[in-house]
Amino acid sequence: MRCADLVRLAREAERWLLPGSCLVCNDPVGPLDALLCTGCLARWRRLPEPQCRRCGQPLPDPSLSCRICPGWPDGFLAARSAVWLDDASRPAIHHLKYGGWWRLAEPMAERMGRLPQWPRGAMLVPIPLSRRRQRGRGYNQAERLAEALSRRVGLPVTAELLLRRRETGTQTRLTPEARRANIAEAFSVTSAPTGTLVLVDDVFTTGATLAEAAATLLEAGAEAVFAVTFARAKPSLG
Ligand SMILES: [Zn+2]
Ligand SMILES: [Zn+2]
Repeated sequence: MRCADLVRLAREAERWLLPGSCLVCNDPVGPLDALLCTGCLARWRRLPEPQCRRCGQPLPDPSLSCRICPGWPDGFLAARSAVWLDDASRPAIHHLKYGGWWRLAEPMAERMGRLPQWPRGAMLVPIPLSRRRQRGRGYNQAERLAEALSRRVGLPVTAELLLRRRETGTQTRLTPEARRANIAEAFSVTSAPTGTLVLVDDVFTTGATLAEAAATLLEAGAEAVFAVTFARAKPSLG
């Protein structure tokens, strides 16, 4: 067993032995297995209406044209996010991705499950990590979110369909154009998809990753693609 796994196990064991405190603020938590206090959960902010009907981006005026989704492939029909990526949600996402706290997928999926527009008969497809990154982390946070969401919305998960061919690195410092070039052909499929698929990820940053994954699935045979993420980054101005 690797050191990182031992540390993770020790942290998990500690949670069960000590009185529970919130991962983010250290306040006491209610149920024995709760990871976040009710105060921290209440600070997660739902995205306001009105939103772009396609990509779910809040728009100050619904008659304004959206700058995010015009370049998406035709069959990528809609994306929605549960909460803003901000100081309230960011620490939980960080613990989910880097701290080994995969059980945080439960309260996050609870928010994602409240979103409307769950296409009937669809399958949930978590955005994959590259093999190397998944080995380092021990799990794919998007897959944990998809599994928790599956229990709530009653749609099955297919985690083997989409593969990540290469690392796309940290994209936060790239321009939108550079991000699109960076992500191009990042995915492949293991078999020909059919029907309607719902991509699942932790954060919607520019939508470029989701659009590229959707394009890969549509080119391989999927009829329609939707997407849902826990959080959405506020678009940078300019
Ligand atoms: Zn808290
Ligand atoms: Zn849009």
